[in-house]
Amino acid sequence: MSTETLEFQAEARQLLELMVHSIYSNKDIFLRELVSNASDALDKRRLAGLKDEALRADDLHIAIEADAEARTLTVRDNGIGMSRDELVELIGTIAKSGTAETLRRLKENKESAELIGQFGVGFYSVFMVADRTTLLTRKAGQETGVRWESTGDGTYTVETVENAPEGTSVCVHLRPADEEDALYDYTDERKIREIIKRYSDFISFPVRLGDETLNSMKALWARPRAEVSDEEYQEFYRHISHDWTDPLDIIQMRAEGTFEYEALLFLPSRAPHDLYQRDTRHGLQLYVKRVFILDNSRELLPDHLRFVKGVVDAADLSLNISREILQQDRHIQLIRRRLAKKVLASVKDLMNKDAEKYRTFWREFGPVVKEGLLDASEDHRAILDLASFTSTAGDEPTTLADYLARMPEGQDKIYFMTGQSRAQVENSPHLEAFRAKGYEVLLLTDQVDEIWAEAVPDYRDTEFRSVTRGVLDLPSEEEPSPEQADAYAAVLTWLNETLDDVKDVRLTTRLTSSPACLVSDTDGLTPALEKMYKAMGQGLSPVKRILELNPQHPLVSGLRTAHEQRSDDPALSETAELLYGTALLAEGGDLTDPARFAALLADHLSKTL
Ligand code: ADP
Ligand code: MG
Repeated sequence: MSTETLEFQAEARQLLELMVHSIYSNKDIFLRELVSNASDALDKRRLAGLKDEALRADDLHIAIEADAEARTLTVRDNGIGMSRDELVELIGTIAKSGTAETLRRLKENKESAELIGQFGVGFYSVFMVADRTTLLTRKAGQETGVRWESTGDGTYTVETVENAPEGTSVCVHLRPADEEDALYDYTDERKIREIIKRYSDFISFPVRLGDETLNSMKALWARPRAEVSDEEYQEFYRHISHDWTDPLDIIQMRAEGTFEYEALLFLPSRAPHDLYQRDTRHGLQLYVKRVFILDNSRELLPDHLRFVKGVVDAADLSLNISREILQQDRHIQLIRRRLAKKVLASVKDLMNKDAEKYRTFWREFGPVVKEGLLDASEDHRAILDLASFTSTAGDEPTTLADYLARMPEGQDKIYFMTGQSRAQVENSPHLEAFRAKGYEVLLLTDQVDEIWAEAVPDYRDTEFRSVTRGVLDLPSEEEPSPEQADAYAAVLTWLNETLDDVKDVRLTTRLTSSPACLVSDTDGLTPALEKMYKAMGQGLSPVKRILELNPQHPLVSGLRTAHEQRSDDPALSETAELLYGTALLAEGGDLTDPARFAALLADHLSKTL
């Protein structure tokens, strides 16, 4: 059979180069990665056997063979194996999104051990210790096998072979040991034992060295918390999540009774790159009585907790349960509700006991958790209890409970303003009256805020109210006086006719220093929502808003006098346009015709000189 030489994909080449030059100091982990891959392959083989009798295999296991003379270490499994195309696809390329970005940052910042520590290197980690690696594999159920070989430079070879055993064996041709460089003698049985015990003890298949089984195979979720070390939990987390950072929190659960299950869940300490890609794989692993059944089971947690990693082991499910059945199963729905409650309660605990961790959690996952306010889940209250928001009260985010506690006498609503960024929202004219009154306003700048804040009516019986919506009804706020209303009636009517883009023009007490602002109708779409709907491809006729004027402002009172005296002066309608344009700019909105606005402004300014 002829041997083909192929090139690694560009990103894979960069990653390999980092491995060969040993950017990561702990080289022992290459063995953990090989065992972890073998274990995954065995899980897949077992599942394939459940579905197809012909693929059933006995004695699924991992065998390690060390040859001190030849200086090789081989990790062999009788798992699912890979076809030639799979091999090229899975080993020749890196599919993980965000890899390019992480690599770029690594290159720029060579010292950053922390960065590489966050980066799961998987199979390529063998090149930290190998001169050359040979992989022999045959996919379960196929006739021929494939031999793959690389020295970790830019290329690898593949070759079809006839007599390969089913499964995969990876033969690592070790570089000379160099203990100063933390490159140990990996043919030393003691070293092998130590690494397996430390990193792979929980692997549910036997890892054998000769006749000896090196791992206890104990399911971590079935062991009492006090018996398991943090390190063991962390290794398990790495194995199931492929995330190299330590988890933020560990949640263990056991339900007894008619429907028994155990769960071991982890809150990651950072959001994965693909958190917002709807179609990517999230979810928990499902086991039935210690047997791995399904990966990425999104049915086990609501979508707004999709970042949680972990395992659910249910005692009473069928071994060949399918995703379709899972979606409808009443018990699964029950588990899902219980797990969601438990996760939220754990975050609440973090909030009370470890403010630092809570802040990390909320920064990374807050926007996702808030998605839970959009559906009809029963967790609204729990989510609002553990949410925090930036507000006009200070630099630190505040909880709603703290907001309520700070509310001065007379305030009866939770006021908020949504927008793109804190800076933009904070300087909006809409906040002027609230500042003057000493009322705190929540500054909501996540995209999801636009939607939930419109949908959730209250928190602990205190209503949410947007500061940019409806008539301002601050308690005891004075209405514009009847005399003022009379005096302005004519100019307001004229403005309303002149400005096509507004729905109405009225006086307000909302403003103290700005001349004008735009507000939404009580039931109209806000500009941000309008933008979102448009981005989603929904055709909408432009939503008109209300222009509110501050009669205390000289520009407004001046415009009224000028209109009284010379209502047919064309410059007046230009002033009206400028007034509207500045209101739009002040809230960070987009002018429909910026060039025209700039020309008008230049023209009017030059007249003042
Ligand atoms: P990860 O395990 O995070 O997916 P790896 O680099 O460790 O990344 O492995 C890449 C892929 O190669 C695996 O997802 C798997 O599909 C395949 N693979 C690696 N080792 C084996 C093996 N022993 N048997 C079958 N497939 C394997
Ligand atoms: Mg792996």
